[in-house]
Amino acid sequence: KHQGMSKQHMMEIRQLNCQPMTMKVTYYKSPVFIHQGHMQWLWDTDGKRYLDFFAGVATVSVGHCNPKVTAVAVAQMKRLWHTTCIYVTPPLQEYCEKLASLLPDPLKVVYLTNSGSEANDLAMLMARLHTGNHDMISLRGSYHGGSQQTMALTSNSAFKYPVANGGCTATMCPDVFRGPWGGSHCRDSPVQTIRTCDCPQGQCMANDKYIGQLDETFATSLPSRVAGFFAEPIQGMGAAVQYPKDYLKQAYQRVRERGGVCIADEVQTGFGRTGSHFWGFQGHEVMPDIVTMAKGIAGGFPMGALVTTPEIAAAFSKGAHFNTYGGNPMACSIASSVLDVIKEDGTQQNSLVVGTYLLTELAKLRDKHEIIGDVRGKGLQIGVEMVEDKVSRTPLSLAAMNNIFEDTKDMGVLIGKGGVYGQNFRVQPPMCVTKDDADYFLAVFDRSIQNYMDRR
Ligand code: PMP
Repeated sequence: KHQGMSKQHMMEIRQLNCQPMTMKVTYYKSPVFIHQGHMQWLWDTDGKRYLDFFAGVATVSVGHCNPKVTAVAVAQMKRLWHTTCIYVTPPLQEYCEKLASLLPDPLKVVYLTNSGSEANDLAMLMARLHTGNHDMISLRGSYHGGSQQTMALTSNSAFKYPVANGGCTATMCPDVFRGPWGGSHCRDSPVQTIRTCDCPQGQCMANDKYIGQLDETFATSLPSRVAGFFAEPIQGMGAAVQYPKDYLKQAYQRVRERGGVCIADEVQTGFGRTGSHFWGFQGHEVMPDIVTMAKGIAGGFPMGALVTTPEIAAAFSKGAHFNTYGGNPMACSIASSVLDVIKEDGTQQNSLVVGTYLLTELAKLRDKHEIIGDVRGKGLQIGVEMVEDKVSRTPLSLAAMNNIFEDTKDMGVLIGKGGVYGQNFRVQPPMCVTKDDADYFLAVFDRSIQNYMDRR
């Protein structure tokens, strides 16, 4: 139990002094005051325990205060905390070598930052310097950051402010559930939705339509040469939106034909979260020119990274590029031990096994409840799309969403919300969760939906 400041006092200070306009959202009707964590568990200031199935937006990759990572962090804290840029500190070299070894050739040059927005900002800058072009393309519903540059790439109105969009254009997201074309067997997920597309096996016509929209964007909205194309392998804030299997492959080809580079934003999908692969882009059989990452990279410690080719990195050779904290010894030793844990504990395999189990069981709940329209994702990157009814697919009202969300929390499970209409429940737990945890979540989630249906 927390012994310090009262909850009321904390809320008063929050209103008055803590980013009051941007941080007014506390997610729940009455905020959850989190005080302590261990692996997949969190405790609030009153000592109530929660099963964490959101992991701080897919960030706490190997569990809260993972004992192995914490031991490394404490040892490093006693040895050295410092900045990055003046001296050579061993943790940075050790980490860059380890990280680079996990990426295919020629993605071998690592830049370290403090967040995903910084990594994506850097990717935009690099793409522009390298290509000599300016225009960037992203997908609707995407989230790539909250800095002024990356906000322009982000295409979800909840996170946009009226500032110059800096040469960023969003094209139609190839969402086979909400979009006009396609169905679940267009995408790479262990589960199928109720309505599938009419495409013959192995031949996705919906993909051609969505690629046609990208061609249209090129033809109508952009100059002939572009700087880069950003896509998350599976959308995160967009809520586990998956594209038809060949979409990224064909989009990359079109972007390259126009002189641009392709950037995979692995901030949520990286480090084994999708189960089948260490990186989400590998599930699409594409080779990005730049990969950006953050969140799970250091299991909750602030860190981001960009990995690119020596050729693209040479864009920086004409001047200095400087980041005081990016790659500092604390972040690097923590991130290094996160990689060790993923390897030693079989975390990626656990994502695959528990994630596939969750997807399969959630699909049963989808068949049971009229208001679950779609279950999608891979590994522990899962979205549950809520609808008023299965035929209209109208996004479930926010009041209903909140009702189920609050009930789930009151029964001791924390999940996430997402989607451009706030219509999706996001299931992205720490990757150490077990099948028993999955069963507990499933029982609570089922009960919350049933409670809502009984009241409706
Ligand atoms: N890219 C993606 C896919 C994200 O989900 C986020 C954060 N939600 C970011 C970039 C930005 O990361 P950060 O908040 O660390 O700046």
